[in-house]
Amino acid sequence: MLRLPSFSYHRPAAVRDAVSLLCEYGESAMPVSGGTDLIPNMKHRLFTPKHLVALKGVPELHGIHEEGGDLVIGAAESLTAVSSHPSVRLMFTALAEAVGSVAAPQLRNSGTLGGNVCLDTRCTYYNQSQFWRQALGFCLKKDGDVCHVTQVGKKCVAAHSADSPPVLITIGARVELVGPEGARSVPIGDFFLADGIMNSRLEPGEVLTKIRIPLPAPDLRTSYVKLRQRKAIDFPILTVAVAAEVDPGNRVHKLRGVVNGLGARPRRLTGWDEVAEGEILTEELIEGLAEQAHKQCRPLENMIVDVDWRRAMVPVYVRRALAGLRL
Ligand SMILES: Cc1cc2nc3c(=O)[nH]c(=O)nc-3n(C[C@H](O)[C@H](O)[C@H](O)COP(=O)(O)OP(=O)(O)OC[C@H]3O[C@@H](n4cnc5c(N)ncnc54)[C@H](O)[C@@H]3O)c2cc1C
Ligand code: SF4
Repeated sequence: MLRLPSFSYHRPAAVRDAVSLLCEYGESAMPVSGGTDLIPNMKHRLFTPKHLVALKGVPELHGIHEEGGDLVIGAAESLTAVSSHPSVRLMFTALAEAVGSVAAPQLRNSGTLGGNVCLDTRCTYYNQSQFWRQALGFCLKKDGDVCHVTQVGKKCVAAHSADSPPVLITIGARVELVGPEGARSVPIGDFFLADGIMNSRLEPGEVLTKIRIPLPAPDLRTSYVKLRQRKAIDFPILTVAVAAEVDPGNRVHKLRGVVNGLGARPRRLTGWDEVAEGEILTEELIEGLAEQAHKQCRPLENMIVDVDWRRAMVPVYVRRALAGLRL
């Protein structure tokens, strides 16, 4: 049986109290929301915080409402609440689908949108028990000095496997953060870093409080597809999110595509505007865009599936995601 290390559990009533606690205990403290990722990781001794600062009971971190031209979602809203919310389902179908595809129902009832955005990266050589990792001499991301994936260099390339960020990027969301220096707002597309050890711009003591999504143009369409080994519960091994405005003549505008599950941060697909802006999304156009995506994506051996097969799945899933934009 894997046991939790001992820790103190703090229940702040307000964001400012959570930030104070995180600052007071420094590196020995971590925020926890649903705990669906952090708690298993603590059992594996990937994190051993002496203090957990619980965010789910903070009222300011809850609520889903429209405000100032945005849909605002509190970071502590459960994945179930987000995926079933009428405004999310009506305006951002792909977000409802992505969030509704995380893990399984019990985990979605506990897990939160904020925890999903701040999810740790994953790797075959990392998400293992301490005993397993020790037998291999640990690795760069935790307790060791070598990367078993790249074999060289000092860079961790563990995969970003959260479902919500790729969709949030395609729909132009921003994350609101509160920390010891005050509040700030960051476009979610700039929030992630290509560093598997710490892949976000979250500063020490900072808490993600809200996700703000601009209300969509009336003709916005979104689509999300996810590849995983078992459909019931597994983390994704590849995901694709796309969004575009589709005019009455079926021509696409502002087409955006993001692939995730390969490297340490979601990857924006580039060069689509040049070929797709103002065009009808025909089979030929979809094929061309899928081929372009294939050229841009090179998965690494950070997951326990064949790397060539995962790469071959990129155009297949891009095709499916783009087909989802057609009525
Ligand atoms: C079997 C299994 C399958 C899973 N499958 C999927 C899947 O398919 N897709 C997927 O995306 N995820 C999956 N997960 C992971 C997890 O359940 C979800 O990502 C969930 O949304 C995490 O949210 P949480 O609130 O439980 O986060 P927590 O576990 O509480 O926290 C996760 C991380 O975020 C930090 N954090 C949490 N909230 C905040 C905040 N507001 N501000 C700053 N930092 C914060 C924590 O310190 C921690 O580092 C799976 C987990 C399990 C156990
Ligand atoms: S990518 Fe390398 S350093 Fe990162 S978790 Fe995997 S083995 Fe460790």
